[in-house]
Amino acid sequence: MLKQITQPLWRKIQRNNFRSWEALVSFLELDATHREKTLKQSHFPINIPQRLAGKMKKNCIDDPILRQFLPLEDELKSEEGYSLDAVGDFAARKQGSSRLLHKYQDRALLIPTSACAMHCRYCFRQHYEYGAVDNIDKELGIITNDSSIHEIILSGGDPLSWSHARLGELIKALEEIPHLQRLRFHTRFPVGIPERIDEAFLDMIRQSRLQFWFVLHSNHPLELDQDVLHAMKLILCTGTPVLNQSVLLKGVNDCVDTLEELIRKLVDHGIQPYYLHELDEIQGAMHFKVSRSNALKLMEELQKRLPGYGLPRYVKEEAGKSSKTIVF
Ligand code: SF4
Repeated sequence: MLKQITQPLWRKIQRNNFRSWEALVSFLELDATHREKTLKQSHFPINIPQRLAGKMKKNCIDDPILRQFLPLEDELKSEEGYSLDAVGDFAARKQGSSRLLHKYQDRALLIPTSACAMHCRYCFRQHYEYGAVDNIDKELGIITNDSSIHEIILSGGDPLSWSHARLGELIKALEEIPHLQRLRFHTRFPVGIPERIDEAFLDMIRQSRLQFWFVLHSNHPLELDQDVLHAMKLILCTGTPVLNQSVLLKGVNDCVDTLEELIRKLVDHGIQPYYLHELDEIQGAMHFKVSRSNALKLMEELQKRLPGYGLPRYVKEEAGKSSKTIVF
């Protein structure tokens, strides 16, 4: 008799993501004028959890949640300075591996998967060549042989796209590398599918010898509903620090009231605002660009309105630099 494999709830939810233009524009009730501004086909296909689509206003192309996920004709515009590899990922490949990037001292970035819970139109890895890799044994070997690395950042894609079993195996393998002390998750998954933070995942954190750090990526206060915040609370209760990083995006959060509301929600729930990123100049994303002078005005105003611990650092990642550039 065949053994029945039961899927976790989050995986079932993920299967219902919007992945077709037709289904999405129909759900959003976009009229013909709005549809004309969208792209039916893209190198970076539509992928939106139902939860996020449910937060978008109907027939409103300027909705701040929708703008982050719906391909628009604006993506076809290009300008000098926008490239396929805005942050120098290619040059940072360690020993030629597309899954292990080493930019900064002390820590390295491991990319277990190219999959995400959602496709964000401004993503700096939307053109990244992940390569067809089934396992990351080679990368584990490289980390084992470099004792200067004390922290692994799991990034992506989104590391929470991996199943419990695969993630568990990876964490066990990392725990066996004596010089590793910390394991950081960079993830946007819970914003779309907070059910991903289930007991199995929480147990994994509780049982590990590594100190976990959890870095959420959220850009707009509407993304942080009660379920998402509850999921973060569960992680905090394991003793894991939870931080948040955002990208400053035109038409999404380039307004001081919106940023203030986002940050207040974070700090009111024990989540530390970490970085507000200047947009990485990746091809297809230039319509999200906020000028440096406007960004600085926003930061100055936020500084007046928020406690010091609530002010994220406004940063720019520049290819080849040994750390992020702190702009404010
Ligand atoms: S979740 Fe992160 S890695 Fe995935 S598309 Fe969005 S920004 Fe890019």
